[in-house]
Amino acid sequence: MRFRSINPYDGRVLNVYEGHSTKQIKTSIVKAHETFLHWRETSFEQRSRLMKSAGDELLKNKKIYSESITLEMGKPIREAIAEIEKCAKVCTYYAEKATKFLEDIPLETPHGKGYIHFNPLGVVLAVMPWNFPFWQVFRFAAPAIMAGNTCLLKHASNVPKCALDIEQVFVNAGFPDHMFNSLLIGSGEVENILQHDLVAAVTLTGSEPAGSSVASIAGKNIKKSVLELGGSDPFIVLKDAEIDTAAKIAVRARMLNTGQSCIAAKRFILEKGIAEEFKSKFIAELEGYKFGDPMDTATDFGTLARKDLAQEIFEQVTKSIHLGAKILYGHLPEKVDTAYFPPMILGNLKPGMPAYEEEIFGPVASFFVVENEKDAINIANQSQFGLGGSLWTSDEKKARSIAAEIESGAIYVNQMMFSDPTVPFGGIKKSGYGRELSYLGIREFTNQKTVWMA
Ligand code: NAP
Repeated sequence: MRFRSINPYDGRVLNVYEGHSTKQIKTSIVKAHETFLHWRETSFEQRSRLMKSAGDELLKNKKIYSESITLEMGKPIREAIAEIEKCAKVCTYYAEKATKFLEDIPLETPHGKGYIHFNPLGVVLAVMPWNFPFWQVFRFAAPAIMAGNTCLLKHASNVPKCALDIEQVFVNAGFPDHMFNSLLIGSGEVENILQHDLVAAVTLTGSEPAGSSVASIAGKNIKKSVLELGGSDPFIVLKDAEIDTAAKIAVRARMLNTGQSCIAAKRFILEKGIAEEFKSKFIAELEGYKFGDPMDTATDFGTLARKDLAQEIFEQVTKSIHLGAKILYGHLPEKVDTAYFPPMILGNLKPGMPAYEEEIFGPVASFFVVENEKDAINIANQSQFGLGGSLWTSDEKKARSIAAEIESGAIYVNQMMFSDPTVPFGGIKKSGYGRELSYLGIREFTNQKTVWMA
C-alpha cells in the first residue's frame, strides 16, 4: 500500500510513501513492547528530561513541522505554527506534572492502610485524524509516555509526512528506539494490531463509524479504549450577552482550521431579542476573513483538507436545502470539483435535515432562533453529540444553572471552546468516552491498582 501527500490547495502530489508490510508491523509491535519493559522501570526524572527535550525539538524545528501540516492538510500556516507551539506546551506540562499526577493516592479503609498505585499498561495504539495532525497525537502521546507506556501510531492516510515527522521528534529528542512508532498502514490493519497479545489498549480520535468499529474490536479483545469523536457543539447567545464580542469570537469558533475542528461551534442558538443584531455582526466579521494560499501568513481560511470532504459538505447542505433549510448568507456552488467550500450560514433548520442531525466539518454555520433559555437548552441537547459548548451571558448564576443542564463534556462561558493541557477534554453521547489532558488524561492508560496493607 502507498500513501500520498497531496497539497489540497493546488492538488499537487508532494510525495509518495511506501506503506509498512505485515512483517514490519509485527516487528514494530514486538520492539515497542521490548522498549516498554525497559521504559516502565525508568524514573520520572529521566522521562521528564526526554519529554522536555521533545518540546525543545518541536520549537527548534517549528518551521519544518508547521510546513508539513500546512502543505499536507491545508491549515493556514499561522494556525499550524500555533499547533506546534501547543504540542511543545503539552510536552512541558506533562514533563513537569506527571510525578504529581501519578503519585499514590491514599485510601480510607475500614482496617489497615490502602492506596491507589498507577502502573503503565504497555504498548498503546493511537488511531488519529488529519485535522490537527500533530496536536491530536501529542496530547495522547506526552501523557501516555510519561506514564511509562510506549506508542504505535496509525495516522490518517492523507498525512504520512506528519506521521513520520512526529516519530522523528521523539528520535531527535533522544528517546529510546521504538518508544514511538509511526506505522504507515490502512485502517484495515487496525484489527490485526489490536488482536496482538502485546498491544494493551487503543485510543481513537476521529469519526463515529471509525470509533464504533475500533471500540468493538477492542471490546472483543477486552482491551481498554478511549474515543474522541465528532461534535456539533452549540454556541448559545442569550439576550444579556455582550454581542460584539460574542459575534467576533463566534466566527473564529466556526472558522478555525477552515471549520474542520471537532470542537468548532457548529450550531448557533440565539435568543430572539438579539438574533438579528448577532447575525449582522457575525456576517460583518466573517466578511473580513481572507481566503487564500494557506502558506501565506495573511490567509485566514483555505480549502478543506481533501476534495472528497468538500463534496461531503456539498451533499449535506444540498439535502438540507431540499428539505427546507434556507441560506442566510453565502451561496451554494453548482458543483464541487476542488477542495474549496465557501463559508455559509443556514437557517430554518428542522429535525431530519443533515444540517440538524449531523456534524458539518467545514465553514457552514447553522443558526437557530429561540424564545428563551429553556428552548436554548432543549435545542442544544437535541443532538446525538456532546463534546463541548459555549454559552454567552452576563449573568453568572444563570450561566452556572444552564452549564449544569447542557449534555456535553465541557461548556465554556463567555469564551469559545478550546483545548488546553490543564483541563480535561472529551465527550459524552456519540462524541465518545474517556478523557484526555489534565491529571485525568495521564491516568487513562494506567492500571489504577488498589493496594491494601493489613
Ligand atoms: P476518520 O475518517 O474517522 O479517520 C480518523 C482515523 O481513523 C484515521 O486514521 C482513519 O484512517 C482511521 N479509520 C477510519 N475508519 C476506520 C476503521 N473502520 N477502522 C480503523 N480505523 C479507521 O475521521 P477524519 O475524517 O480523519 O477526522 C474527522 C473526524 O474526527 C470528525 O468527526 C471530527 O469531529 C473528529 N475529531 C474528533 C476530535 C475529538 O477530540 N473528539 C478531534 C479531532 C477530530 P484512514 O485515514 O486510513 O481512513
